[in-house]
Amino acid sequence: MYDSLDPRRSRAWRYILLGGTVALLLPSYFFLTVTDLPTRGIFTDLCNFTYNVITVCTFGWASYRTRKARPALYRAWFVLTLAVGTLLVTVTLWFMVEVLLQRQAAASTGAIFILFANLLIWWGIHLIPQAKQSAAQIIRRILDSVTVLLGSALIIWWVWINPIFHESTPDLESLLVAILYPVGGLTVVAALISLLFEERPLQPRGPLLLLSVSFLFMSTGHLWFAIQTATKQYQSGLWGDYIWLVAFVFAAMSAALQATTVHAARTTEPPIDLRYRVVYGIRIALPPLTMLVTYLIMVFVHNDKRILDYILMAIGIALMFVFVSVRQLMTLLENFSLTFALRTELAERRRAQKDLQRINEALEYHVAKRTEDLVQLNEQLRQNERQLRFEAFHDRLTGLPNRAAFVNHLEDELNITRISPAYHFAVLFLDYDGFKIVNDSLGHWLGDEFLMALAQRLQTCVPAGNFVARLGGDEFVILLRNLSENHLPLAFAEQIQQAFRQPFEIRGYRLFTSASIGVVINDETHSTADDLLRDADIAMYRAKEAGKARCVMFDSTMRAQAIARLGLETALRNALAHNEMHLVYQPIWELASQQITGFEALVRWRHAEHGVIAPNEFIPIAEETGLIIPLGEWVLEEACRQLKEWQARRPQAAELTVSVNISARQLHQSDLSALVQRTLQKVGLPASSLKLEITESVFMEDIEAAIAASVSLRALGVQLQIDDFGTGYSSFSYLHRLPLNTLKIDKSFIDGINQGEQHSEIVRAIATLAHNLQLSVIAEGVETEEQLTHVELLGCEQVQGYLIAKPLSNLDAERFIQSSFDRNFSAHMANATPVSFTCPALAATVHPSH
Ligand code: C2E
Ligand code: MG
Ligand code: MG
Repeated sequence: MYDSLDPRRSRAWRYILLGGTVALLLPSYFFLTVTDLPTRGIFTDLCNFTYNVITVCTFGWASYRTRKARPALYRAWFVLTLAVGTLLVTVTLWFMVEVLLQRQAAASTGAIFILFANLLIWWGIHLIPQAKQSAAQIIRRILDSVTVLLGSALIIWWVWINPIFHESTPDLESLLVAILYPVGGLTVVAALISLLFEERPLQPRGPLLLLSVSFLFMSTGHLWFAIQTATKQYQSGLWGDYIWLVAFVFAAMSAALQATTVHAARTTEPPIDLRYRVVYGIRIALPPLTMLVTYLIMVFVHNDKRILDYILMAIGIALMFVFVSVRQLMTLLENFSLTFALRTELAERRRAQKDLQRINEALEYHVAKRTEDLVQLNEQLRQNERQLRFEAFHDRLTGLPNRAAFVNHLEDELNITRISPAYHFAVLFLDYDGFKIVNDSLGHWLGDEFLMALAQRLQTCVPAGNFVARLGGDEFVILLRNLSENHLPLAFAEQIQQAFRQPFEIRGYRLFTSASIGVVINDETHSTADDLLRDADIAMYRAKEAGKARCVMFDSTMRAQAIARLGLETALRNALAHNEMHLVYQPIWELASQQITGFEALVRWRHAEHGVIAPNEFIPIAEETGLIIPLGEWVLEEACRQLKEWQARRPQAAELTVSVNISARQLHQSDLSALVQRTLQKVGLPASSLKLEITESVFMEDIEAAIAASVSLRALGVQLQIDDFGTGYSSFSYLHRLPLNTLKIDKSFIDGINQGEQHSEIVRAIATLAHNLQLSVIAEGVETEEQLTHVELLGCEQVQGYLIAKPLSNLDAERFIQSSFDRNFSAHMANATPVSFTCPALAATVHPSH
């Protein structure tokens, strides 16, 4: 497994192989062809020297190449270069002695360098980078190496060295060679074993294998040389010298291969392949095998051994046995601890796996739960969204579509009219009459139920395909599509009225209602939904004004009137500030005394553009807008001030009263009595001079509140009278609870007096009722002598009407007072300036008539 290979490697290897073969064949050819020993000796020395030089060069090359790329490897090759350089010293010495001096070199020549070189080789090999190993592994390796080394040493000693020294006493030189050369050889063998036993080398094996082969030959050469020297048989040029050459060739090849594959280094573990198994097998088997071989050699090879030799040999083998046993024991212990660790790890893994499984299950549960929650949430959101969408277009109370939805439908209808102008549709605007009373008197809760019932009944009236919606409050709208399909809006509106004639039964109450309906049919003036709704609303107001419970079809003049009314409303806001209001006074005449008893103050608006505007035109607007409050205050104060002025100027006026009209809103004003009191005090008018007129229907709107207000007003000493009596459907049972002084019979009854018995009887009945309740009666709107005679006969004490006088300016009124007391009434009548006013909104002019 090489991470990177020098691309030249394969080609370089071929050259290396070629060079190595040539280098081996060349001397073998010479050895085979030349038999002369001295010539062969010289050739061997020459060859040895050359090959050694080449080896030194290739080793230097390998060092140079690895120096930058692989510093660790460089150190090893550098030491190895020194080793082969040291060898070169010996070889050079041999060369010099044998070739230059032509003498047989002594065996000890350079022996010390050989030993030194071998030590360097041993060191260099150990510098080759190795995989990191544990202390136990290192000890085992040392034990293995020592066992094999010891075995080899014992064998060499037993087989070769020992017999030589048995035969003759060796000289110092032979002894030195016999000891130093095998020791050197064994050192290299030890280094080789160390290399072989390197379990998973980091270094590629190629150069190392070649180096191993080289050292094998080298140590064999050493051994051969030691034996030859010891037996005094050595001569230069023997075949044994060839061994050295082979060793140099392989060494040079190894270095060359290293130099050309400098970048190749293992970074990953090599696979456990056959090669690994073989090496591992050798590694395991070698120490005991060496021990066995040593033992067998001791048993079978005797060649004249002494007892001491056997003892030494036995001690050696015993030592080997101890080493092998210790090693095996260590392996066994390691195996035990590994097995134990493995078991523990296995158990832990199982536990972890179980934990993982549990976690996984919990996770799955959580995920499932979360998913379920999310699904629910999603559903909830969708529901909310649906609800929101529904609420955006529906009325919460009745469930009917709301204004937005109705506008959308109207826009759709308008779009149709843009494509086909002949298409017509109608919008009906409904407002229930008197709903406010139900709401106020029975509470909003019941009011809501009433509205729901109204909506339900309305829905049953609307034909399928049409559209009904609630705008808010008691306002509903209906869209009648495609009028050409027999839809007659007014007839349909009448059907609705019919449907509402049936009473509603709600929580034990029987409720009656009617609807005021405005109808509009689209035309070219309606370009938006708002236009249609506005016009339908205008028509509905007309229906209300016309007396409620009816349908009014919109026409364009209504819009103009509505606009005019809007203009009036704006102008009214400034009228008071601009002093455009003034009062006129209509006398009230007592029949018995033929005397004036007082005046009714009636407000007028002198409009800059429209002239004098009648109260009927602007009082409703003032009521709606709330302007009636400041206006009412002004009228009250002005009327009181005027009477006070008259009283101050004319003693006859001391007993006169002034009647001031009070509107519904004023009556329900919480501090009305306080206001009246304040005004009277401010002006200095006695309370008895002031009469307050309240229209009958106003009393009936909220009778309890009216009673409360009346009581506090009466407590001030002010007189109270019901105005327009007979028009407000009074419940007579309440009359006695109201602290009243006077009833004013409405003009409509007086008008009818001449026409028949019926009206006369009503007037008589009212008068009788009033008298029974200790109230005085005023007949309003008396215009003719005949009416005057009638009302007198029917029991009315006082009259008010054009016959007596029209509403007069303050000056005329003062004159009227004067003439009245001068008994010169008819003269006054002749001089009085008629008061007239115009009504711009209705574009009609009212002329007072006598
Ligand atoms: P009202 O209080 O019933 O006043 C009587 C109305 O009848 C007056 O109309 C008066 O001019 C008119 N009238 C009296 N005698 C005759 C007659 O013989 N023939 C005819 N054709 N009409 C007669 P005016 O002044 O137009 O007032 C209309 C209504 O406006 C009043 O009815 C009253 O309800 C209201 N109003 C007038 N001034 C005030 C005011 O200052 N405050 C409030 N809140 N309402 C007022
Ligand atoms: Mg009045
Ligand atoms: Mg009246």
